[in-house]
Amino acid sequence: MSYNENNVFAKIIRNEIPCNKVYEDDYCLAFHDVNPAAPIHILVIPKGPYSSFDNFCSNGSSDEISSFFKGVSNVITKLNLPNGYRIITNSGIDGCQTVNHFHIHILAGERLGPLVVQDNHHK
Ligand code: AMP
Repeated sequence: MSYNENNVFAKIIRNEIPCNKVYEDDYCLAFHDVNPAAPIHILVIPKGPYSSFDNFCSNGSSDEISSFFKGVSNVITKLNLPNGYRIITNSGIDGCQTVNHFHIHILAGERLGPLVVQDNHHK
């Protein structure tokens, strides 16, 4: 999937639309999801123009990649989640990705249930 500069997270990075920020450093920005799927639902995005996890890891510099994942960990530390959390990244059509800028979801605050909805009759 090629990168589209008009996606909503690119607009947040450019300060064209607001976000409810929880963390920022040179490489990443973290903010509350507008439509939370759990009591705690934070999105972490790299500041560079990457469309997905594999696009980021293939094309990002070593500094960007290591600093981004350290940033995700810093957010988790800042959130103080003694009962744990789940991190997810969706990619493409089958992953049900809706925003064309790589992002990690951090979900926490309750028992999150099964990894995927159980109505896929693939067995
Ligand atoms: P995904 O479906 O994995 O691409 O996740 C995209 C997420 O972005 C969804 O959970 C949306 O609720 C969230 N989202 C969309 N627009 C915004 C926005 N302006 N600010 C914060 N979260 C957003």
